[in-house]
Amino acid sequence: MSNKLRMFSRMMSTGTRVPQVCIVGAGPAGFYAAMRLTKKLANVHVDIIEKLPVPFGLIRYGVAPDHPEVKNVINQFTKVAQQDNVSFYGNITLGKDVSLPQLRQNYDAVLLTYGAEEDKVLGIQNEDANNVIAARNFVGWYNGLPSDKDLQVDLSNDTAAILGQGNVALDVARILLSPIDEIKKTDITQHALDALAESKVRNLYLIGRRGPLQVAFTIKELREQLKMKDCSTIWRESDFIGVADVVASLPRPRKRLTELMLKSLEENKLKKEDTNSKRLYPIFLRSPNKFISDKDNVLKGIELFENRLYVKGPNVEEQGCVSTNEKELLDCGLALRSIGYKSVSVDEGLELLPQGMVNNDKGRILDAHPRLAKMYVAGWLGTGPVGVILHTMGNAFQVANTMCEDISKLENSRARGGFVELKRILRNEIVDWEGWKKIDQYELEQGKKVGKPREKICDVAKMVEIAYS
Ligand code: FAD
Ligand code: NAP
Repeated sequence: MSNKLRMFSRMMSTGTRVPQVCIVGAGPAGFYAAMRLTKKLANVHVDIIEKLPVPFGLIRYGVAPDHPEVKNVINQFTKVAQQDNVSFYGNITLGKDVSLPQLRQNYDAVLLTYGAEEDKVLGIQNEDANNVIAARNFVGWYNGLPSDKDLQVDLSNDTAAILGQGNVALDVARILLSPIDEIKKTDITQHALDALAESKVRNLYLIGRRGPLQVAFTIKELREQLKMKDCSTIWRESDFIGVADVVASLPRPRKRLTELMLKSLEENKLKKEDTNSKRLYPIFLRSPNKFISDKDNVLKGIELFENRLYVKGPNVEEQGCVSTNEKELLDCGLALRSIGYKSVSVDEGLELLPQGMVNNDKGRILDAHPRLAKMYVAGWLGTGPVGVILHTMGNAFQVANTMCEDISKLENSRARGGFVELKRILRNEIVDWEGWKKIDQYELEQGKKVGKPREKICDVAKMVEIAYS
């Protein structure tokens, strides 16, 4: 029995009423909520349960390996996990090892922060062709997500395309186009590094269904792409007709981003010779109509429809797009679908909205089955799969505040058993914080041997073995 569990058992036996909170999902939303709950409530115990044996969600498995500074939030989360009134229990999947009613039975409050585990699909012909890959899986592959470690990625064709123009799309573009010497110093997985070292991809299309004024990526990420060694970003002049005329009227972040695109377009025009070996081609107002594949179901190209914009609201971001009948064919051997993530339901009583998120009011789950009453949601599961860590933090703090209000009214309700009771029904090998620390140490040591900050273990069984060693 761990020290924290022992301490909890002692409190239960002495009759002290300690509200028990369970948080499902050890990503930023889970940790930020735990931080706020334990700061505001003098008397509470928080258990964070997590599907994987390791914590941190998309900080470990989403954030690009060449952005190590973003991962510094892990230090804050580690402090939270080491508090006496917080416990981490990994290798427990909600919906498989434990059900929502079982959690409700054993905890005073349950907060769901299990993120968005699937990706949106285009729903077009041949989307299952070989080498049409979800950016979500590609990211998991280079970041060491166990379920994506065996992803088949064929990088033997010189032309590839990314569908979507968000920051995930730019992360993926950077990984595909960066000089290998730059990324080999990161914690990218060895299998991805080996494949990228042999990659033949030289031309990468970044395809947006709307125009330059509607791109979803942000200025910092674009600037990084424009500065990349041995890579040119080639814009199509025709996509920018009329754009310069409206720049002055745009809100500041959109204005600066658009100015940067226009500046880069002008610089390209002045360039006499392009000696770079790789090229990123952002193209706009194009929607994929179907993927073209050969008789072996191998991707050969994408049929694109030309779009035109129409006014939907007062801001340029709100303009919609419709397809015209104009078509064009883009030859390519790899297509990465990067049009967003979506959440999944883990209980038949928990319905999701069409946008792929749980309906809620300030974090209180609405429309759930009565047996799931008094549950909360935060992070991407409650907001939809948008926003950076800072947005997720703001949302998690707000939901934790809501929970504090409700928990402070609990006094006369029956005491809950918390993890002591839950453990009786769990059949799997639980990895606690001490176990994670062993995995962490092992990965750091393996990384050191090859000049990387860490070499991630990509296999759940191996993680569990090290945690129990
Ligand atoms: P997640 O981080 O996804 O955490 C959810 C956790 O729940 C995971 O640990 C998961 O394993 C666990 N889980 C899932 N299902 C279950 C289950 N059934 N039972 C138990 N546990 C479960 N933001 C930035 O600020 N900077 C960046 O550079 C940046 N890069 C990004 C790169 C990518 C590819 C993506 C997709 C996002 C990026 N973001 C970035 C956004 C940031 O990652 C999110 O804002 C944040 O991670 C959302 O936090 P969350 O806790 O809601 O979800
Ligand atoms: P996103 O920002 O929502 O971008 C999705 C892109 O896909 C948009 O260009 C969107 O176009 C397009 N799209 C959606 N549906 C489509 C369809 N049916 N057909 C064609 N195109 C379609 O999503 P994301 O890139 O997955 O990022 C998710 C969140 O994580 C964002 O908030 C992002 O900022 C954050 N993130 C941050 C970083 C970072 O800070 N470095 C890195 C990665 C992710 P429309 O605009 O027309 O819908």
